[in-house]
Amino acid sequence: MPDTEIYDVVIVGSGPAGIQATINLQGYGLKIALLDDSSTLGGHIYKEVQKNSTKTDFFEQDYLKGFDLIKQINLNKISYINNSYVWNINPKLEIYYSQQGTSYKIKAKKILIATGSLERPFPVKGWTLPGVIGTTAAQILLKESLIVKDDAVFIGSGALFYYVISQYLDSGAKIKAVIDTTPLNNYFKAAKHLPKALLKFGFFIKALGFFAKFRKHKLKVYHFVDELMFEGDDELKTVVFKKGSKQVKIDTDIAFIHNGLAPNINLQLQVGCDYEYSKATRTVNIKTDEFMQSSVDNIFVVGDGKSIRGVDVAIVEAKIAANKILNDFNKIQKVTTYQKQLKSHMQIRDFLNTLYLPHKNFLSPSDDDVIICRCEEVTLKQIKNGLERNCKETNSIKSFTRCGMGSCQSRFCGLTLLEVISKHTNTPIEELKYLKIRSPIKPIGIEEMGSLVEYE
Ligand SMILES: Cc1cc2nc3c(=O)[nH]c(=O)nc-3n(C[C@H](O)[C@H](O)[C@H](O)COP(=O)(O)OP(=O)(O)OC[C@H]3O[C@@H](n4cnc5c(N)ncnc54)[C@H](O)[C@@H]3O)c2cc1C
Repeated sequence: MPDTEIYDVVIVGSGPAGIQATINLQGYGLKIALLDDSSTLGGHIYKEVQKNSTKTDFFEQDYLKGFDLIKQINLNKISYINNSYVWNINPKLEIYYSQQGTSYKIKAKKILIATGSLERPFPVKGWTLPGVIGTTAAQILLKESLIVKDDAVFIGSGALFYYVISQYLDSGAKIKAVIDTTPLNNYFKAAKHLPKALLKFGFFIKALGFFAKFRKHKLKVYHFVDELMFEGDDELKTVVFKKGSKQVKIDTDIAFIHNGLAPNINLQLQVGCDYEYSKATRTVNIKTDEFMQSSVDNIFVVGDGKSIRGVDVAIVEAKIAANKILNDFNKIQKVTTYQKQLKSHMQIRDFLNTLYLPHKNFLSPSDDDVIICRCEEVTLKQIKNGLERNCKETNSIKSFTRCGMGSCQSRFCGLTLLEVISKHTNTPIEELKYLKIRSPIKPIGIEEMGSLVEYE
């Protein structure tokens, strides 16, 4: 049962950022609640690490070290409210969440949002066919249930993409082929960031280890693929792509796709946090000051839910925000901004962002039949129709086509919609506004709303 009093700090998200913030805040006599929609602590990177902590032959150290982080939380000193989806926050710092079919309302003096990331959409023909699944879903099945699928085709790009392939090989699964969509040009562009990136020597050693492993397992890898589609009537049958001027077809019933990560921003936007479009990552990021304070008073945003910068930065940002919160409560005098640590972890970011920026064909499709909004099955053609009828921005397209109105509330189409509007109206993407996100950020039943339990 949740606590009945107002909390000093409510933290949303129990990934590394939310956990680190909790660790730094506990022990000062503050009343803290940590909410997450999962049943266990760890977020995405450390999902189920408590359960898997002894499986050292199956999982590598990078993942298992999450257990050491989680062990530092003193669950007797905080209210840990799991299986709870936060669907509304307002500027009065009231938090509404849903747990097992009942909604609750609690209040906070400060809120720290650490909602992490989502996989960026991969809008190509056939991407909604059963059998075409996010690469991180493959990882979740592995971490949660040790389930793998033989003869899958992995398609995509990015550090996380190679990491999951490596985890898959470690699990003993057979991989049919890897279709690498990293554009050749990106290697040249990223080269200028290499000297700074090389200071993060360990990263490159790890990457070399992955590629040596791929060679050892004789993985069939197709590089520089920039055109592809999925074929099948009711489910995936074939992956079709171009390799130079040649068309290649691979029969498979399972493809794991990955087009990079994007911040999970719906809660932040719903409460009114300012945002900005990053051309470097082609994502919508949340603006904060150096202490991670957002534009809404007493709401802090850290980690991937602010911008995608990896687990180490997420942890440092959580420490910075926790420090500022402790200072605001007069629990500590000095506010540290951990600039040295932050700078050190950021050394590799420009390199990674440039190297793994998706090919333009995978940001904005050119085939009219491609589905942009999976929930409402809105195609590119319908969006172009809207643009022709003078709906020139995201929200009017949403009203005209229902793109972004479905159960995911634009999480899987918002970025593609921006790209499509920018391309077809010749408007610089950073000048476009993102969709207005309203509460509840995830559909909940009327009955559940009616049963709202208030603790005041
Ligand atoms: C599926 C997935 C797998 C990943 N795997 C790896 C990996 O293996 N290695 C790696 O280096 N990086 C991985 N990453 C990236 C990694 O998550 C980040 O680098 C880092 O963990 C960010 O930490 P965080 O605390 O900001 O967010 P996260 O770890 O993403 O934690 C956010 C938490 O908030 C919860 N949440 C979100 N919205 C709500 C809400 N409204 N109400 C309640 N709870 C909510 C989420 O369920 C999640 O538990 C992965 C990302 C994803 C999306």
